[in-house]
Amino acid sequence: MVKSAVILLSGGLDSLVSLGLVRKNYENMLALTFDYGQKAVQAEIDASQKICVYYKILHKVIQLDWLKEITHTALVSDEKVPTDIEDYTASMKAVWVPNRNGLFLNIAACYADAEGCEDIIIGANKEEGETFSDNTVEFANRVSAEFEYSTLVKPRVVAPLINYNKDDIVKKALENNIPLEFVKSCYIGGEKNCGRCESCVRLKNALKNNGAEEYIKLLF
Ligand SMILES: [Zn+2]
Repeated sequence: MVKSAVILLSGGLDSLVSLGLVRKNYENMLALTFDYGQKAVQAEIDASQKICVYYKILHKVIQLDWLKEITHTALVSDEKVPTDIEDYTASMKAVWVPNRNGLFLNIAACYADAEGCEDIIIGANKEEGETFSDNTVEFANRVSAEFEYSTLVKPRVVAPLINYNKDDIVKKALENNIPLEFVKSCYIGGEKNCGRCESCVRLKNALKNNGAEEYIKLLF
């Protein structure tokens, strides 16, 4: 049986490595990148496009103008994205987008239901699961259970990184020749990753801990 999947792709470390790890399991894949007015949107779209060309999969950008209007997160508003993080919980609150992963998975489920895709891939991981409840195995399982009722195809939420922290994720990327040069994890956007926001700090530390200095030079 031909297997197919929809993947949530932001062009960041987690979604890129998730794709790299599962690509061989599927005949057809569709990647969705969401534009909810985030500061890094153009960087995320550009990175995602390159990644989709590399992995030969379809790419679609979904516009969510209304989400931009209702969210007060620093990712979208004029408020400064927290940098030089000491307190991950404070940073988490500043960058929280209302029900983001819940919404993105449900949009992915619409595509999966329409196109007959068995799986939906999300880059949820153990490290972020400690501060973001929508990065946990419980969340993924409960959304899968929801799709048994809300879709005909009943796609499964697959989170290949759910037991990994950022160090493990970078290690997996290096072991599997996943093109880390494409990563855009930064909350602020711009040509290079800023190196100071929560997402950049996590990525930079993981690269350092894996001795991947060449990528630190390249990405920041
Ligand atoms: Zn950054």
